[in-house]
Amino acid sequence: MSDPIVCTPKSLPRDKWVDAARKALEINPANQPPTAVIARGLGGPGSQLERIAVMVAKRWHTAGVHLTVGFLDNPPADLRARIIAHMNAWAKTANVQFTETKTDPQVRIARASSPPEVAGYWSYLGTDILSIPKNEPTMNLEAFTMHTPESEFHRVVRHETGHTLGFPHEHMRRELVQKIDPDKAIAFFGTTQGWTPEEVRQQVLTPLEESSLLGTTHADAHSINPFIPRACISSC
Ligand SMILES: [Zn+2]
Repeated sequence: MSDPIVCTPKSLPRDKWVDAARKALEINPANQPPTAVIARGLGGPGSQLERIAVMVAKRWHTAGVHLTVGFLDNPPADLRARIIAHMNAWAKTANVQFTETKTDPQVRIARASSPPEVAGYWSYLGTDILSIPKNEPTMNLEAFTMHTPESEFHRVVRHETGHTLGFPHEHMRRELVQKIDPDKAIAFFGTTQGWTPEEVRQQVLTPLEESSLLGTTHADAHSINPFIPRACISSC
């Protein structure tokens, strides 16, 4: 069996960072990073406004997340319903509702396998989807059909929906990042995803600020799919 496609986190282009951070703070003021985190992050490259913008979380408002969903390539009705049913699995534990529409959908799903920068499985994070042009996808489920195994709907659709809800990767937590061998990760993601060492450092090797986390006290290596391949883990 071929290796499963890994999730490729999608970040906004730099020229949208500041506006997107403003939107996130309007929607949920709790997206503001703690002062200590801002202070630690102010050094380094980029303007100070951009440095702060990337520390802002992208969670939706606390009154619940009700988003409309559209498909960009006209999949059959049974596939559309199956994808949306898996997205709505989040409603079992959270105030979440995804509803299909053909008019101006907020979540836009494509199934593209090319070009390389669009292929694969990914979603923009939380309120960032509002900064994507309306004719472009906010989520990609490469080559999903009704023949795709149910286990992949569980593994991929629910995972990418988690990103749409504003959840970053569990594997970005420090205690999990520490288990990753930087050289192996740079080699792996360079070969499989075409990422530069800098992109691997940003996407895989930089832990989330622990203070901005809402979830469990300890990282859960089995949570919504860390997607870190064995090839990247430091051997003991
Ligand atoms: Zn992911």
